[in-house]
Amino acid sequence: MVTYLGKLGELTLKGSNLKFFEKLLVQNAKTYLLSVDAKVHLNFGRLYIECEESACPAVEFTLSRLTGITGWAKAEVTEKNIEAIQKKVLELALVEKEKGAKTFKIEARRSDKSFPLDSYSIMREAGNLVYERQILSVDVHSPDVTFTVEVRDKVYVYSDSQKGRRGLPVGCSGKGLLLLSGGLDSPVAGYRMIRRGMTVECIYFHSYPYTSEEAQKKVEKLAEIVSGYGLRLHLNTIPFTQVQMQIKKKSPENYTTLMLRMCMMKVATMLAKRIGADCLITGESLGQVASQTIENMAVTESASGLPLLRPLVGLDKEEIIATAREIGTYETSILPYEDCCVLFSPKHPVLKAPLEEATRIFESLEVEPLLEEAFNNRQLMRFEAAGFVAQNWGTKENTEKLSKDHAVIVPMPQQSQV
Ligand code: ATP
Ligand code: MG
Repeated sequence: MVTYLGKLGELTLKGSNLKFFEKLLVQNAKTYLLSVDAKVHLNFGRLYIECEESACPAVEFTLSRLTGITGWAKAEVTEKNIEAIQKKVLELALVEKEKGAKTFKIEARRSDKSFPLDSYSIMREAGNLVYERQILSVDVHSPDVTFTVEVRDKVYVYSDSQKGRRGLPVGCSGKGLLLLSGGLDSPVAGYRMIRRGMTVECIYFHSYPYTSEEAQKKVEKLAEIVSGYGLRLHLNTIPFTQVQMQIKKKSPENYTTLMLRMCMMKVATMLAKRIGADCLITGESLGQVASQTIENMAVTESASGLPLLRPLVGLDKEEIIATAREIGTYETSILPYEDCCVLFSPKHPVLKAPLEEATRIFESLEVEPLLEEAFNNRQLMRFEAAGFVAQNWGTKENTEKLSKDHAVIVPMPQQSQV
């Protein structure tokens, strides 16, 4: 049996709401691990996951994506006396020495106050065998490895602590509809909101045959990666070719991109209302392209009455790319397949569109019926982190069902019901 420990960060500041956040965190961890034999519980500010060695990859997938924990570690459990602790630290030190470590330090926490040594004494004594036998030498400032000893209901000892996602557990901050394209920015924007505890659904506009099936597959892949953090994610695909054609026919050329943005906002707003989303989310960043000047952003958002969140608005491309690499969307985002805006891009897009002018042009497009039609012809795909875990590591009898429900097209209700 292996025990993983997760540390709660920001959550511990939640005062009277703490219980609610903790419950959600446990529930989320359990959801990832539905198909895996693993026990999840929370006790005095620590998340515990116990499992057999064979389930470790699934548990590590979970802990490295679960929002609401600042760090986690695979811990060794030992008896509650200093001799046992010293032996355990020695065992771990031998492993670390093999890996090339030369120096170490000990950190200790004692939440069980009946343990005879205080944390300072534990720190001093836990490494005795390691330096007596000259396995590693002490360096308290920049050690190659830190061994942590936590004296709780049992004693936990670990060397390798990993960073968590931080933020808040998914499900505590309402629901947002992310406009997801195949680019670098929007998956990162979705991830940012997920980390603030938001449940995210996605909407993608495609212009088949002007955009390829590969472009669609790329967006599906991105949705799957982001669903790893968001627990579950629905991808709504909207056929936008007719709308694009109408814009091309009726709009002044320099306004076409902006008109397309407004149309996207309109349909996204319809969907948000249908699914009960509280806001829209985009990957816009100030000044990145012509449609993202402050004036043009004002025009874009005027097409929706909902709050529009732009979590990347003040970030530059390098910062966005750093996050894309960290969350694993970068390699997919840079695949070459064009998204629907490129083919219809004007040579000289308007940079500072006056709102009245943009609104007048939008009304002259007479595009509303096409927007309705596009909305009604949407297609839904569902991505579930639990399904991904089941496909890769599931062992329980629900594995097949969970696997089958992941990354599949969901039949839409009849037209009369939508
Ligand atoms: P991204 O890298 O996210 O594609 P971008 O830098 O290419 O962004 P734009 O193409 O101007 O910027 O798009 C701005 C935002 O509008 C995107 O971040 C995304 O939220 C939304 N968006 C653009 N194209 C689409 C699309 N085809 N479907 C859904 N949303 C889109
Ligand atoms: Mg784009």
